[in-house]
Amino acid sequence: MTAALLHETTRPAAELPAVTGADLTVPLVDGGRVGYCDLDSAASTPALAAVTAHVAQVLPYHGSVHRGAGYTSRVCTSLLENARADVARFVRARPDDVVVFTRNTTDALGLLARAVPGPVLTLDLEHHATLLAWRHSGHRVVPAGRTIGDTLQALRAELAARPDTALVAVTGASNVTGELLPVAEIVAIAHAAGARVCVDAAQLAPHRRLDLAGWGADYLALSGHKIYAPFGAGVLVGRGDWLDAAQPHLAGGGAVRSVAVAGDRTEVAWLPAPQRHEGGTPNVLGAAALAAACRELEPVIDDEVPAHERALAARLHTGLASVPGLRTLSIFDDAPDRTATISFTLGDLPAGLVAAVLSAEYGIGVRDGRFCAHPLLARCNDGDDAVRASLGLRTTPSDVDRLVDALGRLARRGP
Ligand code: PLP
Repeated sequence: MTAALLHETTRPAAELPAVTGADLTVPLVDGGRVGYCDLDSAASTPALAAVTAHVAQVLPYHGSVHRGAGYTSRVCTSLLENARADVARFVRARPDDVVVFTRNTTDALGLLARAVPGPVLTLDLEHHATLLAWRHSGHRVVPAGRTIGDTLQALRAELAARPDTALVAVTGASNVTGELLPVAEIVAIAHAAGARVCVDAAQLAPHRRLDLAGWGADYLALSGHKIYAPFGAGVLVGRGDWLDAAQPHLAGGGAVRSVAVAGDRTEVAWLPAPQRHEGGTPNVLGAAALAAACRELEPVIDDEVPAHERALAARLHTGLASVPGLRTLSIFDDAPDRTATISFTLGDLPAGLVAAVLSAEYGIGVRDGRFCAHPLLARCNDGDDAVRASLGLRTTPSDVDRLVDALGRLARRGP
């Protein structure tokens, strides 16, 4: 029996954290009402109960972070700095990695794009946040292959052809198909070619353990609203040197050591990261909420969260296989693991129609479109829209059955 198996069988199962979120009933087209079934957690997740409670607890504290002597200022400063430490622990950062608070993953990648000192390489399967951040930094795109091995080979070849590549930016898990990328292998290939690696962890963070140090990756970005915290806060975590040398992402109060006016110009001595990039009053509440989510997920992200989601995903895959004409999308023929995010098409029915019927007739919320990943949909769905169902901590087996039942009825009904 493997050590991993022993670990799983001897450890008492931890409780999954409770999730809040609105218990809505929504109107149906036939005039009835039904309990809302949200299957769009890849877009945004409801807050964990502990996050909601923590926000209520810290909301009364307001003050000038890092610059106030009063009690509430000191509370706000320690909330922000403790939040950095909690995030660093959650993503398994190295001791000298820097945690910069941003608005979200898109913002974090935009910050890194200011700091990267050379060309950037991505795959064509990325979310637009990772695909578009580097447009002004000598960006090249490598088409992924049908297998992971072919994809790694294509990356290796491109890095050999362009030894000036500074950074490889890659998603940890696809926001369309849920497929996981082999991050540690990509890091080994990139580092052998002298390039750093940034992991877009927006879709991996809610589902699997992040391990910045273990992977050997250099940077990681994620959004609080996808890990059961509210909108408005994300992070970039990683090596300080590029970030210390970069132009400030948000110049202003708090980002400087000193400012002087010399003639008609300002002379500025900027602080190092993270303060260098966090000018202005920080989103303390967002950072504290994000950190609370990290603390809650920390004990369950290795085993309990993946186990819960794997069981639901297996149920969904089995159910979808019984729906006539339903085709699920994949990037690779050999993806070793997937999150519980599944995109599909249903015969000739337009994706928008399928999603609209699921909402209006069944009260089920999914997403349709090209999911901010147009090149990926061009690869695996001829550029057409698809439907995406994404499961999370709040999803129950009966939610899954409800979706499968509705799709089955729709498939039998036809256009
Ligand atoms: N990266 C991936 C893989 C995503 O799925 C998303 C959002 O869906 C983002 C980046 C962007 O996240 P945000 O909109 O929070 O900046």
